[in-house]
Amino acid sequence: MARKFFVGGNWKMNGNKNEINNIVNFLKAGPLDANVEVVVGVPSIYLTYTKSILPNNISISAQNAYKVEKGAFTGEISPAMLLDNGIPWVILGHSERRNVFGETDTLIAEKVAHALAAGIKVIACIGEKLEEREAGKTEEVIFLQIKAIADKIKSWDNVVLAYEPVWAIGTGKTATPQQAQEVHNKLRQWFSKNVSPAVSESLRIIYGGSVTADNAKDLAKESDIDGFLVGGASLNSGFVTIINAKQ
Ligand code: PEP
Repeated sequence: MARKFFVGGNWKMNGNKNEINNIVNFLKAGPLDANVEVVVGVPSIYLTYTKSILPNNISISAQNAYKVEKGAFTGEISPAMLLDNGIPWVILGHSERRNVFGETDTLIAEKVAHALAAGIKVIACIGEKLEEREAGKTEEVIFLQIKAIADKIKSWDNVVLAYEPVWAIGTGKTATPQQAQEVHNKLRQWFSKNVSPAVSESLRIIYGGSVTADNAKDLAKESDIDGFLVGGASLNSGFVTIINAKQ
């Protein structure tokens, strides 16, 4: 079965109501390729506002959620709260959560497992740092990151995996299509060997790291790149070009 192309926009800690209206307007104007699943990752305080004005061909994601349903965890939100507000997706394991807020592979895997069990779909992010790539450790690092998750979940049906090399996020240094394809293919081989050939075939593996309207088309040509997670470039109308990169 063909994997549906998936493009997520990660707004990070950006946007106010005016700017969100603007983003929603260019997304509404599109036109967007109907064969692409589009999801916007919104700061938690704007989730319900954004959801109330988004057209129904675009879905919405939180950028984080904790690993339990409720309790004494000041500042956190839970998958149950997302569900209660009609938010179907969450981004987990983003490199900024890992490297700015110190989230470990184990915590991220616990969050992924809890979100899935609660009925929230997950964009799970992995990726190596520059020094890890330069030391030839890319595979070692990303395989450990996915193994932590694989050990804790029963099904990959509601997961999209985002390969986001840390050195490419927000730096303007995109991985070349060949570099990204090589890692995506290695990931698919890992899934075939360690999870199942069926999951390896069906799991969407998307690329993130300085994707722009200019480089998206070439990246989208690679056979194991099933879409993108886009930070900076999801805040302006070039995001429509990225969504349509497969056309
Ligand atoms: C991201 O935030 O996931 C990301 C890839 O950011 P950028 O596109 O700005 O590099």
